[in-house]
Amino acid sequence: MHEMMVAQNLVATILAEASKHNAKPIGAKISCGKLYAINNEALCFAFEAIAKGTVCEDVKLEIEHKPIRGQCKNCSQNFEVEFSSPRCPKCGSEDFELLPDAPLMLEEIEFETE
Ligand SMILES: [Zn+2]
Repeated sequence: MHEMMVAQNLVATILAEASKHNAKPIGAKISCGKLYAINNEALCFAFEAIAKGTVCEDVKLEIEHKPIRGQCKNCSQNFEVEFSSPRCPKCGSEDFELLPDAPLMLEEIEFETE
């Protein structure tokens, strides 16, 4: 269950940012590639468990799953791969390379404003 590790890192990062800004975090937005296979519910659950008793306790997580991208070997087009019909939208070729999945990223932290 790698959500636990991900949640641990997130809480640690948000805590560090919170003390840097001396503010209470209330929300965080993260993004990751689809292949990363983060389970939203499991991540939120793990996050809540780890954040309990810290200033991260009330942080609402927003998780964005980024689409997989591919690069056409025929015309070099970079595009979002539709798994229902995986082909290049520009030239129609099915000969393409899957690009590496987007890593898990903490996009932004929202702090409480006074
Ligand atoms: Zn193409």
